Amino acid sequence: MHCPLYGFSHVKSHDQRLRRVRDLDALDKPLYLMIHVRRYRCLDCGEVFSESLPSVPHHKHQTHRLREAIYLRCQDTTISSISRQMRMSYKTVERIYYDIAGKKLSDTPPSSVVGIDEIAVRKGHRYETVITDILTGKVHRMGANRDTEAARSSLSA
Ligand SMILES: [Zn+2]
Repeated sequence: MHCPLYGFSHVKSHDQRLRRVRDLDALDKPLYLMIHVRRYRCLDCGEVFSESLPSVPHHKHQTHRLREAIYLRCQDTTISSISRQMRMSYKTVERIYYDIAGKKLSDTPPSSVVGIDEIAVRKGHRYETVITDILTGKVHRMGANRDTEAARSSLSA
């Protein structure tokens, strides 16, 4: 056991707290786990901290698997309908969704990001579409063709 502040391992058992954590529903009813969490005091800096639980994120009131299930259900329906079905506040469902969506995005950064814009050429007599690869800065010019096919072929060029 190490102090989370400075990493000292000079810690002493402090007390125990009972935490109420929601898990996956059982028989369509909310299921709560009552977990005894040990707390420790760092003998170097005085900080009191809790042991970390493998199935519950730090400072959260739901298990990882419940949060993941809520995130997946958000893909198919609205936050308000999940909030009603799960008997969980809109705010909580919303926070879980954006928290996990943000983590997934940073785990798998996009391989490319493109910007599409129109530029006027010859003093506005003609418009051309320009596609920019935002990550590499490379500019693909599509010319006067503005359909999907033209966009696709200019990006693969
Ligand atoms: Zn410490």
